[in-house]
This record gives sequence, C-alpha cells and structure tokens, in this order.
Amino acid sequence: MLHMDNIGKVFRTDLIETHALRGLQLSVNEGEFVAVTGPSGSGKTTFLNIAGLLENASSGQYFLDGEEVSMLTDRERSQLRNEKIGFIFQGYNLLPDLNLFDNVDVPLRYRGFSAAERRRRIEEALEQVGLAARMKHLPSQLSGGQQQRVAIARALAGSPRILLADEPTGNLDSLMARQVMQLLNEINRNGTTIIMVTHDAEQAAQTQRNIHIVDGQICDLAMLNRRTAVEPVAAEG
Ligand code: ATP
Repeated sequence: MLHMDNIGKVFRTDLIETHALRGLQLSVNEGEFVAVTGPSGSGKTTFLNIAGLLENASSGQYFLDGEEVSMLTDRERSQLRNEKIGFIFQGYNLLPDLNLFDNVDVPLRYRGFSAAERRRRIEEALEQVGLAARMKHLPSQLSGGQQQRVAIARALAGSPRILLADEPTGNLDSLMARQVMQLLNEINRNGTTIIMVTHDAEQAAQTQRNIHIVDGQICDLAMLNRRTAVEPVAAEG
C-alpha cells in the first residue's frame, strides 16, 4: 500500500545542506505494523513526514495505494492526508481549550461529513479508546496516557488507511506506554496499517517488522547482525 523508491530529502539553509534521506527504498503492505528505529538524526521523522504527506521528498518516487504522490501541491497533499492518514505525536498535540469531543472533531471538520456523521465517528472513536464517558472533559483533566488515547481517537475517527506514530509513548511511564501499545496492536488487528517510530527496542519487538534507518538509508538488520557476529573473528585473524 506504500512504496518508496529511491527517496531523497535535502534541507537547505543559507550555509548548509543536510541530506536527511539518501535513496530510501521501502514497501509496506496493507495491514502491517512496522516499527522504525535508528540513531538520533538518522532521518526517521523526515521519513514519517514524507510518508504522511506533510512534505514532499526532494527526489525519488512515492506511491500510496498505487497512486504516485511524489510531487503534489500543498493543497493536494493536505486533502489526501485528511482522507488517508492518521498521525499520532509524542506530545499528543491536543488543543487545551477544547474538550475531548471537540478535539476529535477538529480534523473531521475538514472532511465534509454531516454533523450527525461526525458525532457518530467521534463517539465510536472515543468508545474504542475507552474514554467515551469523558468526552466533556478538557485534556488537562486527563493523565498523559489518556491524552495520548484521545489523540489516537482523533486519528482513528477519520478512518485512515494508515496510522503514523512518532514516538507515541515517549512521554509516558512504562505502564501507560504498555496500555498505548496494547491499543495500537488492537487497532492493527482490526486492519489498520501502522508505522511507528520508536527508540524502544522492546516496543519495536512487539511489531511485525523492524526497519532500521542509519544516515538516511534503510539498513538491513540481518546484515548488520551478521557483520557484528563475524567482526571479532576477523579481528583475531
Ligand atoms: P531523532 O531521533 O533525534 O528525532 P530523527 O532520526 O527523527 O532524529 P530527523 O528529525 O528526521 O531525524 O532529522 C534528520 C536530519 O535532518 C537531521 O540532521 C536534522 O538536523 C535534519 N533536519 C530535519 N528537519 C530539518 C529542517 N526542517 N531543516 C533543516 N534540517 C532538518
């Protein structure tokens, strides 16, 4: 459902050029739960932002659901993003002055749904994350884990084809992080494709496939392991 071919991304400022992605090659199948790991600055967030149609790549081709989306205008990208992508961020990104119902409603307002359809979707999404009883509460009245569940409900309410998560448990203690991971696994079992950036190896191991990015390229973990395994022998020889 997602295919990236030789994707490059260059950030240019007056003085420096940063090659954040260098020929990244990746396919993700429908229904997969993929974890993306890699050192700080290796290009994970840049990859997620391009996958999520927040920005275009500088070079290469990106296909989503068989349609080439490499060179869309800002307007085309945001329209397609609203239709197909759900995002979850480490910092939840909830609007503090809106209650949970209205927070989940925000992206739905751009979709042209009727008020009744929006209400149905919001109630169902908050039900799915176990917070239907609290829809009139403000985010500040919830724990961090609950706030992240609201952010997940907001992402799910639009029935995205793919859910992208950038360090979704980075701000949570281990119990809350486990609950959020359980919820993501359940969402994936219900058929939603998920790509999650994480620094947590234990979490990555709970997904179906791990992609490791080093220096803007996907690094074959099996090869890395083989290399690590033979290096000491080579050194002795
Ligand atoms: P971390 O794990 O620390 O969040 P990351 O793997 O997500 O890092 P990115 O945020 O994708 O890495 O950054 C990749 C490289 O691109 C870094 O060198 C970063 O400084 C650079 N970069 C990212 N965004 C921009 C930008 N808007 N302008 C200039 N350089 C950028």
